Amino acid sequence: MDIEMANEVGGRGEQLSSLALRCAERLSVSFRDFYRELIVPRLYEGRPIPDVRGIPVNGTVDGMLQAANIWVKAMNSLMNRSDLRRATLLPWRQTLAPRALIRTHRVWCPVCLHDLASHGKTVCEPLVWRVADVVVCPHHRLRLEAQCPYCGRGRQPSFGAFTRVGCCRRCGKWLGRLIPDDSAPISEQETFLSRSVEDALSLSNVKDGVELICSDVAVRALRDVFYCGSSAQMGRALGILPSQVVHFAAGTFPAPLQLFVRASYATGATMEQIFVTNKFEVEASVGRKPQFEVLRAVPRQRQLGADLVMRLNNALAEGGTQSVGAVAAGLNITATTVWRRERELASRLAQMHAEFVANETQAQKEEYRAKVRTYITACAARGITPGRRQVDTECGGVGRFSTDWKRLIIKDAMRQVSLLP
Ligand SMILES: [Zn+2]
Ligand SMILES: [Zn+2]
Repeated sequence: MDIEMANEVGGRGEQLSSLALRCAERLSVSFRDFYRELIVPRLYEGRPIPDVRGIPVNGTVDGMLQAANIWVKAMNSLMNRSDLRRATLLPWRQTLAPRALIRTHRVWCPVCLHDLASHGKTVCEPLVWRVADVVVCPHHRLRLEAQCPYCGRGRQPSFGAFTRVGCCRRCGKWLGRLIPDDSAPISEQETFLSRSVEDALSLSNVKDGVELICSDVAVRALRDVFYCGSSAQMGRALGILPSQVVHFAAGTFPAPLQLFVRASYATGATMEQIFVTNKFEVEASVGRKPQFEVLRAVPRQRQLGADLVMRLNNALAEGGTQSVGAVAAGLNITATTVWRRERELASRLAQMHAEFVANETQAQKEEYRAKVRTYITACAARGITPGRRQVDTECGGVGRFSTDWKRLIIKDAMRQVSLLP
């Protein structure tokens, strides 16, 4: 397919889900058809395709886990390319902790979108908007928006049946606009963080094949160069528990994005120095002594919230095979808690599940009907007229008529068979 990944947004590369949407637009088909016809066969290459295959609704397509991996393969094959990893966070697998790195819903800067469209550039959504810690646009000093100003829909998924890039997932309105400069005040650290993440992503996202330094190596380099090799000193300076810094330096698990951004803020080391060269200019170091809020492990309530959203989204992506009650049971909480905490997702899942159950019941009936017909035809061939109870037992039932539809199906089948010559 002849379509380029957009890199025009101030050096920020496009996210994979945005590219997928643009492919569908280029082919003038709805995203649903694009997904079913061109993506699904590639996602399930060599494996049986399940009947239920809803459009994935969360942002993991752009992340660094399995979903991103298989989507990259599918899109590479579709577009006859090999470099689409860079439209995701996959290059950062060895470098950044995956937990809470990606946000599962969309955010956008309305002015960035407006600028792209009004300057005739390719409208796309950059990968940086997927990073959960990024909450402001450093170019326009605006808070990123997550809620449609027209219909109020928040927590928007990446994909929908008729989705277009830069548009609302519910009402479909274009989200780019010039808005008065009166959003909530933005701190220097928030802007710094957004800019740093853009800088970091530009390393992997704009060019292909960059080797990023592993987390533990990068942490040790920062610790040794700027904190006299002391994990305790580094932890205190960056508001991170020293015991955790020890683990990050030892490579027990990768360090979170925040650690590197804070280190860059405090020392002046650039993202390229931290993640690519490891050559620091200590002389030019800014030596800021900022007060960081201490980063702790995620409290249980928030962790539950994140897990719940993820599981609901997964259940939606699976096409509603699970009920809200099943999701609740999986987390050891009551269904009422699910409804109270995530009303919108729960009601979407409830609807989808109802539809699924209806289809499933229909399929069961069809299967029953086919069995009944075969059995009665076989009996008729031998000149036997079986009793209804017997028919039901032979066709997987328990031999009692607990339901009217079974009675009807058997009656119908008998009538049809007796009409045959
Ligand atoms: Zn902007
Ligand atoms: Zn809307």
